[in-house]
Amino acid sequence: MARIGVFICHCGTNISATVDVEKAAKLAADLPGVAYAADYRYMCSDPGQKLIAEAIREHGLDRVVVAACSPSLHEPTFRGCIEAEGLNPYLLEIANIREQCSWVHTDRDQATDKAVDLIDMACAKVMQARPLTPSRVPVERRALIIGGGISGIQAAIDIGLAGYEAVIVEREPSIGGRMAQFDKTFPTLDCAACILTPKMVTVSRNKNIKVYTYSEVEEVTGYVGNYVARIRRRARSVDADKCTGCGTCWQKCPKKVPSEFDEGLGTRTAIYIPFPQAVPRVPVIDRDSCIYFQRGRCRICERSCEVEAVDYTQEDEVFEEKFGAIIVATGFTLFDHSVYTEYAGGHHKDIITGLQFERMVNSCGPTEGKALRPSDGREVKTVVFIQCTGSRDKAKGVEYCSRLCCMYTAKHALLFKEHHPEGEAYIFYIDIRAAGKNYEEFVRRAQEEFGVKYLRGRVSRIFERDGNLVVRGADTLSGISVDIEADLVVLATGLIARDDAVDVARMLGIPYDKNRLFTEGHPKLAPVETVTSGVYLTGACQAPKDIPDTVATASAASAKTLGLFSRDYLEAEPMVARIDPGLCSGCHACIEVCPFGAIQEVEWADVRNGPKRMIAQVIESVCHGCGNCTVACRAGAPNLDGFSNEQVYAQVEAF
Ligand SMILES: Cc1cc2nc3c(=O)[nH]c(=O)nc-3n(C[C@H](O)[C@H](O)[C@H](O)COP(=O)(O)OP(=O)(O)OC[C@H]3O[C@@H](n4cnc5c(N)ncnc54)[C@H](O)[C@@H]3O)c2cc1C
Repeated sequence: MARIGVFICHCGTNISATVDVEKAAKLAADLPGVAYAADYRYMCSDPGQKLIAEAIREHGLDRVVVAACSPSLHEPTFRGCIEAEGLNPYLLEIANIREQCSWVHTDRDQATDKAVDLIDMACAKVMQARPLTPSRVPVERRALIIGGGISGIQAAIDIGLAGYEAVIVEREPSIGGRMAQFDKTFPTLDCAACILTPKMVTVSRNKNIKVYTYSEVEEVTGYVGNYVARIRRRARSVDADKCTGCGTCWQKCPKKVPSEFDEGLGTRTAIYIPFPQAVPRVPVIDRDSCIYFQRGRCRICERSCEVEAVDYTQEDEVFEEKFGAIIVATGFTLFDHSVYTEYAGGHHKDIITGLQFERMVNSCGPTEGKALRPSDGREVKTVVFIQCTGSRDKAKGVEYCSRLCCMYTAKHALLFKEHHPEGEAYIFYIDIRAAGKNYEEFVRRAQEEFGVKYLRGRVSRIFERDGNLVVRGADTLSGISVDIEADLVVLATGLIARDDAVDVARMLGIPYDKNRLFTEGHPKLAPVETVTSGVYLTGACQAPKDIPDTVATASAASAKTLGLFSRDYLEAEPMVARIDPGLCSGCHACIEVCPFGAIQEVEWADVRNGPKRMIAQVIESVCHGCGNCTVACRAGAPNLDGFSNEQVYAQVEAF
């Protein structure tokens, strides 16, 4: 007969205010199999754990039930506590009487009854438990970093410098992300290229860092310490080993198309590098625009290449690599302002986004740093910035604040005034959110030193009058409606999740929120982890972040990765499914419902020389113990260790 110890936590008053814990302990002492029951103020504290340890010794307990908060918080604590007393850590059961009882009920008597029921069920379950032992798996000490913006770059450098291998997979032809598009960065106004380029060069030179650009991860299988990623390296149509990056091909290419890097304000050729400091400095041929690929003639780039690097026959390469950890650094995109019909719905050339303005004020950009009207190339004398386009707007955009728009708009207005001291810059804002080191001072500088005019209020309409734009808005501080004639309007569009964020989340088995931003393991205590072990988040794919926060999360994610790599092996949870071959009919129902691809088909014959047949078998190291297979099988062939059918039936019976 089992000798169960029941330990009931008051959790300060979190539980004891609603549940009569002393009464629960008295009733628990009479439950089947219970040899000892006690209550204590904080069971997770040192004295609380000591109480459990002493009771195990004094009363010869062989199983333990702790009635406290959610197992997601303290199950490991109590497992460690009983293990130290020589018990198998899986002979522990948590009855969640806080989240599932005291926090959701008000009637003390009923809550106490429910708590006792939960304890009773936990005792019934632990009685059927058997000792489990975690298996040990080796760790592949290589990190996969998806996305080569500043966050992916920083993570790769941290891991590379620590002596481990990091592999960046970047979709675009070059690493650099959004930061490569900027001229200057707030709040210090230092040149973006001057601080980003050295990092990009470090990435390309460090022997521990490998970069696959123009590439994507198509599939990820495996588990922490042992992920396998299928990577597609798109054909560049240029042999990177031969190319010297001399530039003759793109200088000679006759085909011009709008440049994505210049946000459509400038052009690029069909064979191109996105920007002069691109890493690698190897061009790609955009086959959809290339005259040769579309019409079968031209080949000017091929003829002009002295080292014969152009290769029209190159094909995509698809290959698999093993990784111990994955860092997701896929960044953000900008809200599409075409839904704002009152701002011309994206149809007016002189109403642009902040990112377009960023290219415009960049001295290496399409207008060489001059603010010119895209419609007719005329110099801009008056510019109006409108903040919160798509952010803090539940009706048309996203509910959250994009955090950066106040700052980047102040930067834009300041840069405009720097380039055009005679010009006028107006900013319509709702509130100014400048919470960051030296941020408030930066906004003040724009206002006081550069004379940028801030108007608190919303813009109701933008319309055309005599070839100029008129911005009609409210200045709520003076209580008047204002019309401002502007040459250019810049919308501070909010930062949102990329279009393929959900696909990336599904591929990696990580959750996302209602805005499709990836969800961290815990908002306070696990800000760069995800619920999938060994998958970490960094940068703006999680929420809008400025560069300092992005770099900080990149270093945090690499610290977590290095922590993983510092171990010789990992212990895999022993709560995995097993299939009874005698009961399995080979129907595949379990294989179809397994979200982790952890069940395979194998040939099996009964030991008493039965005929060979195909049955399902669990790959233990891949199984996450979700239990889907146990529910799908009509024969009851799969059973989950630590959550067996017998344990669940015992709980139901007890109830
Ligand atoms: C207009 C504007 C101005 C700004 N100015 C400043 C400033 O002055 N100072 C400041 O601190 N912050 C500024 N920011 C914020 C800054 O842009 C971000 O902090 C930074 O870019 C976040 O970096 P990231 O690496 O997380 O994302 P990104 O820069 O978006 O990089 C993500 C990278 O991942 C790649 N990628 C995406 N999906 C995949 C995939 N599935 N597979 C492979 N690769 C993928 C992308 O191609 C990209 O290269 C500004 C933002 C905007 C919009």
